[in-house]
Amino acid sequence: MLIDAHCHLDRYEESLGHALKQIKQHQIFSISNSMDLPSYKQNVKIAATSDLVSPVFGIHPWNASEYVGCLEDLDWAISESPMIGEIGLDYYFVNETSRYADQRKVFEYFLRAASRQKKIVIVHTKGAESETFQLLKKYNTERVIIHWYSGPWHVLKAMVEHGFYFTIGVEVLFSQHIQEIAGYLPVELILTETDNPGGNESLTGNVGTPLLIKDVIKKLAEIRGTSDQIMIAAVHNNLIRLGGDDPWLTMVRASGG
Ligand SMILES: [Zn+2]
Repeated sequence: MLIDAHCHLDRYEESLGHALKQIKQHQIFSISNSMDLPSYKQNVKIAATSDLVSPVFGIHPWNASEYVGCLEDLDWAISESPMIGEIGLDYYFVNETSRYADQRKVFEYFLRAASRQKKIVIVHTKGAESETFQLLKKYNTERVIIHWYSGPWHVLKAMVEHGFYFTIGVEVLFSQHIQEIAGYLPVELILTETDNPGGNESLTGNVGTPLLIKDVIKKLAEIRGTSDQIMIAAVHNNLIRLGGDDPWLTMVRASGG
């Protein structure tokens, strides 16, 4: 089974039908992350049509200021969500430093809840890697997926020592830095993602499709000197190990590989 541990199915809009067809045809288990409350509600609707889709709730750091004043209103969505994402800090794409306090407040609120509810968190960190790591440690967040890591080596190494998992995505096809990271990570901490449909679009101008996950696998296998099949099995096993006894994993566990 292929694993897309970070995508945004709600954003496919009119090409959603096509995306879901690919997901089914190629058996791509897809963790559909949310940016805010409307996108979560949309992801829940989509997931009701496919047992290969897991809808997860989070407030993206870009949207933190909009929600910082009403965090308790989100508790129901946090509680029902099988994992938490996309959450984190972004001091790179967000230039207004006045918004950073809001980002931290929202991120910490979600980390506190995730820690209490023992949920996996899917974390965005851009230009704020050290601080993101400090906060994850502060809340004893044990199960962490770092999405699309592109930051400094020393923080990456510390996160690896901490046993965090990492999604490798479409940028591995283009960027030497990401290729080096993909070669460095211990195989047991590697997951794959597309961040579609926007991930590929931001790099190539073309809207991504779920099938891009195969290109990511192919490149990862090439970098690590192994076969696509071995890489697919490794990523599949990694998600099962990380998921532990979580009920959402039933579908992933049921698939042989
Ligand atoms: Zn994302």
